Amino acid sequence: MPGLVERLREHGRPTFSFEFFPPSDEAGIQQLIGTVDALGPLRPDWVSVTYGATGAARYKTFSAVGAIRGQTDVRTMGHLTVAGQTTDEVRRALASYARLGVTHILALRGDPVDGERFVPHPDGLANATELVRLAKASGDFTVGVAAFPDVHPEGSAEQDARLLLAKQEAGAEFAITQLFFSVDAYVRLVERFRALGGTMPIIAGIMPVTVPSQIERFAHLSGARMPAHVEARLRAAADDRERFREVGIELMTGLADDVLAAGAPGLQFFTLNRSKATAEILQRLRVLPVR
Ligand SMILES: Cc1cc2nc3c(=O)[nH]c(=O)nc-3n(C[C@H](O)[C@H](O)[C@H](O)COP(=O)(O)OP(=O)(O)OC[C@H]3O[C@@H](n4cnc5c(N)ncnc54)[C@H](O)[C@@H]3O)c2cc1C
Repeated sequence: MPGLVERLREHGRPTFSFEFFPPSDEAGIQQLIGTVDALGPLRPDWVSVTYGATGAARYKTFSAVGAIRGQTDVRTMGHLTVAGQTTDEVRRALASYARLGVTHILALRGDPVDGERFVPHPDGLANATELVRLAKASGDFTVGVAAFPDVHPEGSAEQDARLLLAKQEAGAEFAITQLFFSVDAYVRLVERFRALGGTMPIIAGIMPVTVPSQIERFAHLSGARMPAHVEARLRAAADDRERFREVGIELMTGLADDVLAAGAPGLQFFTLNRSKATAEILQRLRVLPVR
């Protein structure tokens, strides 16, 4: 199996990957394994599991990653954040990933739990760039980072591009974007990064939109701006669940097609631990996954 970075550089063969969140109990884990199995025939290049900073949340991430590693043969990436943790705790998390055989890490800062301004732990790391450096120094990890087509809420377009370059210089080898709804936002991010000399591949993060409540929730959580014509089409279908789902899948398939046509090296689907909408989008893409 070629390494993830080599796969990302194979032109004309975009990668497809699926992000999950860690379930809170054993039943949830078995359900997650069912989802991974259901998506298995699509042969994802990897799956990834998100990470929360509290002790309980960390445990859930490692349980989910352990179950996927133990019960499936798909390549697994572990997310890792620095928020609310000492550097030693982050080192231990890296060691846990290594013990589970996870060699691909998505290095993130994390957000303040209470929604206030981010303050680093007094004995912790200050940002994702420092985590990239620590991960690279701690073992044989291939490290990816986050990127923001609609600009990070605490940043600016220029600062985001500079920080992305700093992460690459610290050893990051790929980036995955926050969800977005406009192909232009993705293209502009890539252009800003390339203009500074950035070379790492930037995977497009795609969120299947299937229920009306997601319109407000996504905008609030991620700062992703929904173009007026996208929002208008979704709102026009909001009273009919079936119709809304159909429109959401059609729009997100269009976005995924456009972003691949614009040169994205891969798509990472934020699955919300469900398989159907993601599978439908993948099956409708103009550029079918070559497997
Ligand atoms: C694909 C993806 C997956 C994610 N998975 C998770 C997850 O599993 N768990 C989770 O908790 N969160 C996750 N997040 C959310 C992420 O933690 C937040 O978006 C967070 O606010 C920013 O993380 P970052 O890694 O970009 O941080 P950083 O790169 O550290 O940047 C965040 C902000 O900090 C400031 N900053 C950073 N470095 C510097 C510097 N050197 N000088 C000045 N200012 C600086 C800037 O204002 C910047 O906008 C994910 C995000 C994405 C896109």
